[in-house]
Amino acid sequence: HDEQAAAKAAAATADSGAPTIFDKIINKEIPSSIVYEDEKVLAFRDINPQAPVHVLVIPKVRDGLTELAKAEARHGEILGQLLYAARIVAEKEGILDGFRVVINSGPSACQSVYHLHLHVLGGRQMNWPPG
Ligand code: IMP
Repeated sequence: HDEQAAAKAAAATADSGAPTIFDKIINKEIPSSIVYEDEKVLAFRDINPQAPVHVLVIPKVRDGLTELAKAEARHGEILGQLLYAARIVAEKEGILDGFRVVINSGPSACQSVYHLHLHVLGGRQMNWPPG
């Protein structure tokens, strides 16, 4: 369970509101493998994939959404856009027949990057419960 220990250690850096590595990805300061992009949303491949398809869907402007726990009513529109973008990603990746969308919110859920992101996972049999 080295991987779980590493995830917990990374998650120990709780929400500070500081910029994250995703800002650099949005600004194209560091490369990423982009799967889908529109005005509001960016989707790119996870650097440490947990399934044959593992894509992160993020808002281009964080606007206080460091984690889902910080969501407010005013975020409703972008939250819907992110979920719909996850569906677009699943279609592009050919996994509409079965895929999983995960949001880790907070240290107890092993969130490691404090810029809201949806994990879109698929391309293999996904097990339940996820653990
Ligand atoms: P979390 O643990 O739910 O916060 O997910 C953060 C995800 O971001 C992890 O699955 C990481 O593998 C992924 N990640 C971190 N840095 C990068 C990067 O530079 N490019 C792509 N994915 C990244």
